[in-house]
Amino acid sequence: MLILDLLFFDEGTSREGKAVDNLVRAIYPGSFDPMTYGHLDILKRSCKLFDQVIMAVVGNPGKSPLLPLEARERLIAQTVADIEGVVVGSFQGLTVDYARQNDIKILIRGLRAISDFEAELGMAQTNKELYPELETIFLMSKAEYSFISSSTVKEIARLGGDVSHFVPQPVNEYLREHFSRGTR
Ligand code: ADP
Repeated sequence: MLILDLLFFDEGTSREGKAVDNLVRAIYPGSFDPMTYGHLDILKRSCKLFDQVIMAVVGNPGKSPLLPLEARERLIAQTVADIEGVVVGSFQGLTVDYARQNDIKILIRGLRAISDFEAELGMAQTNKELYPELETIFLMSKAEYSFISSSTVKEIARLGGDVSHFVPQPVNEYLREHFSRGTR
């Protein structure tokens, strides 16, 4: 795992010796407010498909996130520290702009159910219009994670429930601490 700003690309080769110019890189953007096991599963499976996956937290304020951007990024970094080929980053603005600036041509999204599809299709088509070289790849959620959403996790945690089956350990600890401070 690398933090994005440190990555690009003073050395000519990756750790595996592959020329950095030839790495197949993909971006997995999202709110990750917070990261769940569903997100983690999509990330791990993406890492088997691409040399490098940039898990990028989108920092646009429109969605009124519970977790500050830095906390979301830090919790992801802690969770993925041992996964080879992952870069953690964040950005504000359009995903297509971020992808273009970093010369990334593959965008990964997860699909849980048909209810995700309509919005994701619209987003993929819009992004294609804005950045024609960008391909969106959808990975289907594993059945066991398909019911997990960040909003459900937050609601359960807010009401004092156990979310340890739904989120990685650092996220679980953060939520427990956050809501035990009486921030309900
Ligand atoms: P966004 O606000 O961009 O949708 P999210 O953090 O909600 O950000 O989701 C990021 C991506 O992860 C989306 O493609 C979403 O469909 C996918 N995703 C969310 N939860 C799951 C899950 N449980 N399993 C698989 N994919 C998921």
